[in-house]
Amino acid sequence: MAGVHVVGGGVVGLSCAWALSRNGHEVTVVAPDPGRDGAGWVAAGMLAPVNEVQYGESALTALRLEGARLWPEFAAALEAASGRPFGYDTAGTVTVALDASDRAVVDDLLAYQHSLGLQAERRSAAECRRLVPALSPALRGGIEVPGDHHVDNRAFLAALVAACRGSGVSFVEAAVAAVEPEATGRALVLADGRRLAAGSILLAAGTGLPAIAGLDEAGLPEVRPVKGHILRLGPSPTASPASLLPMTVRGLVHGHGVYLVPRPDGSVVVGATVEERGMDTTVQAGAVHELLCDARAIVPGLDELVLLEASTGLRPATPDNLPRIGWTALPGVAVATGHFRNGILLAPLTAAAVVDLIGGHDLPPLLESLAPVPA
Ligand SMILES: Cc1cc2nc3c(=O)[nH]c(=O)nc-3n(C[C@H](O)[C@H](O)[C@H](O)COP(=O)(O)OP(=O)(O)OC[C@H]3O[C@@H](n4cnc5c(N)ncnc54)[C@H](O)[C@@H]3O)c2cc1C
Repeated sequence: MAGVHVVGGGVVGLSCAWALSRNGHEVTVVAPDPGRDGAGWVAAGMLAPVNEVQYGESALTALRLEGARLWPEFAAALEAASGRPFGYDTAGTVTVALDASDRAVVDDLLAYQHSLGLQAERRSAAECRRLVPALSPALRGGIEVPGDHHVDNRAFLAALVAACRGSGVSFVEAAVAAVEPEATGRALVLADGRRLAAGSILLAAGTGLPAIAGLDEAGLPEVRPVKGHILRLGPSPTASPASLLPMTVRGLVHGHGVYLVPRPDGSVVVGATVEERGMDTTVQAGAVHELLCDARAIVPGLDELVLLEASTGLRPATPDNLPRIGWTALPGVAVATGHFRNGILLAPLTAAAVVDLIGGHDLPPLLESLAPVPA
């Protein structure tokens, strides 16, 4: 089979590369630091189709639910192929409210989730604390969502790189500067001037996509960066590494959303801001302060943890928040990007779609409208 060059070594590019390789394609991933950069490295790793629902996003809700449905099989296959566990945790999520107006918002969300037939249960403050004893006694209760899970995103990326290597995927550690069209023999031009002749090309470069030259005629949507600050807290070296949290906790704190995602080593990921600041990735004191204040309002015991890392990532977003998966207007050039807040959740779904696409098959009806260019 003709080779596929995947541009981008993030969760989307690597998931697609591994799936393509398992399906008999010769695959090369071209990215500066595969599995170690991009938004997926920074992310929290939530697989949260139920808590992420928003009014007016029914197409995205359907995608998220289908993404979540594919996760167990994808996770089992990846763990077997890579030999690396990556903290796939199905303990569920509790979403709590700090004050009465937060409770009203959480109840509205619950009513909307129920109207969509999603599984979520109203819980009193005492019931929430039975689920997560570290929760603040000041909370007004919340909802329990058993179907919202999480993974350790960094371990997930490492497993994807290992599985790719194990199945014969090649890596070229370089940035792509341009795509050369069909007329000159389809190729990737690297930032260091090298030229790689390519069979098919899959563009999965996240927020790096707009900087790649040669794509003006591709019919791609605008992909803009949406900045997120996120923190990593760990047990102090003298404390036991036992986890403070048996499950993911999401919260509304005087109208601000915050989440706390546990890791197997006892650390906790706290996120995240959602900011329109272009390609700026600086870490700002005010954002770190706000995240910590909101997180400790719902789990006061966070004060005892060590601040390991404050970082930012850039979510690749399209104008309608939907990803774009499909052939571009350039022959032999496909795209998978724009996964915004859900790239990890949607990775298995995207990988399956890309295998269909490159294999010459139609996409399932749920994904047909995601093509950047109508078929
Ligand atoms: C703070 C934060 C929290 C998040 N939490 C979650 C979560 O809990 N659950 C969830 O599902 N999603 C979450 N996300 C979103 C998720 O991280 C993204 O949707 C996902 O990472 C997108 O994957 P991607 O592979 O398209 O892009 P990225 O992960 O950004 O990877 C892009 C890749 O392309 C490469 N690249 C860029 N330009 C070039 C070029 N010119 N040539 C070659 N390679 C290039 C990069 O180096 C990188 O390897 C979060 C994001 C952030 C920022």
